[in-house]
Amino acid sequence: MGISGTRWVGPSLILFGTEEQKNKYLPPIASGIPDGVWCTGYSEPDAGTDLAGLQTFAVQDGDEYIINGQKVWTSCAHRARWLWLACRTDQNVTKNHHGLSLIIVDLKSKGLNVSPIKNFVGGHVFNEIFLNDVRVPVSNLVGQENNGWAHLMTALSFERGVAIGTTGSLRRAFDELVQYTKRTGQIDNPETRHKLAEVAIDIETARLLAYEAAWKTDRGKTVIYEPSRDKAYCDVVTEKLSRIGMDILGAYSQLDVHSKDSKWTKLKGVFEHMYYYCVGMAIAGGTTDTQRNIVGQFGLQLPKAY
Ligand SMILES: Cc1cc2nc3c(=O)[nH]c(=O)nc-3n(C[C@H](O)[C@H](O)[C@H](O)COP(=O)(O)OP(=O)(O)OC[C@H]3O[C@@H](n4cnc5c(N)ncnc54)[C@H](O)[C@@H]3O)c2cc1C
Repeated sequence: MGISGTRWVGPSLILFGTEEQKNKYLPPIASGIPDGVWCTGYSEPDAGTDLAGLQTFAVQDGDEYIINGQKVWTSCAHRARWLWLACRTDQNVTKNHHGLSLIIVDLKSKGLNVSPIKNFVGGHVFNEIFLNDVRVPVSNLVGQENNGWAHLMTALSFERGVAIGTTGSLRRAFDELVQYTKRTGQIDNPETRHKLAEVAIDIETARLLAYEAAWKTDRGKTVIYEPSRDKAYCDVVTEKLSRIGMDILGAYSQLDVHSKDSKWTKLKGVFEHMYYYCVGMAIAGGTTDTQRNIVGQFGLQLPKAY
């Protein structure tokens, strides 16, 4: 899960980082060395979908910020070198999304503790992060102080606009599933062919939607609801493909990626992995319902959902 650096921290730094930040952080991100591994500190115990409700607070003291607060569900914090932190820098605001800032925090800072959270299959991806009087240089502020909401929305668009990568993975898994049904003769079953054709249309649609967002971005247009549209659609298609794969593989589908060397494991256990993984991926980066709300509000100009 060490994707924060390449997928949204790097692109965001290119847009609103200082020259010093770009020179320092972009080369390690691009090279993939341990010093270029980032994690993302947005969610808190009382701030998930309602991200603007976050409470972690940074107060300036000379040329440093002193940060206090708690983050949760921080993927990869136990492996990362840097924390991309969303925090509050002004508490005297009338609207929650005012007074926020993005600050880069060294995960080796004094007063910062990373505590593991095991997921439901015992794996370690998530962490809690506790920040007690953590001092960071003011030069670690990214973009404008108190304008963090705008920067956050841009970073989240990069995070949600992962549809091109997702459709590539879906297409590969789909192609292998089709080959499998040919080998086993299941392709002769009209119901199987029908299901495969239906999800093939979905995957191709997801790919074209992702291309459209990339095309708009390339022409300098601001994409507002498109990354949310694409993430919501990919969430749904991933779940659908995983279910079709599990149906086609039958009892073999219970063997996971960790049993890929067993002669009974089919398609390297990819569908078992996708079946469990898609639940979390539909929550990460903002839930599918949240993305639908954004499409409704900004794409269809419907009344705000909350
Ligand atoms: C695999 C994974 C990786 C993650 N990695 C990170 C990470 O690295 N860094 C990080 O900061 N966070 C991370 N998260 C946390 C993630 O961003 C949050 O879980 C997510 O934003 C939802 O917040 P919540 O869990 O507090 O749920 P809640 O906000 O409490 O939502 C609970 C349910 O209510 C629904 N809901 C809430 N409000 C509304 C509304 N207004 N309209 C309609 N429905 C609504 C939601 O859709 C959801 O179904 C990760 C989560 C997962 C699953």
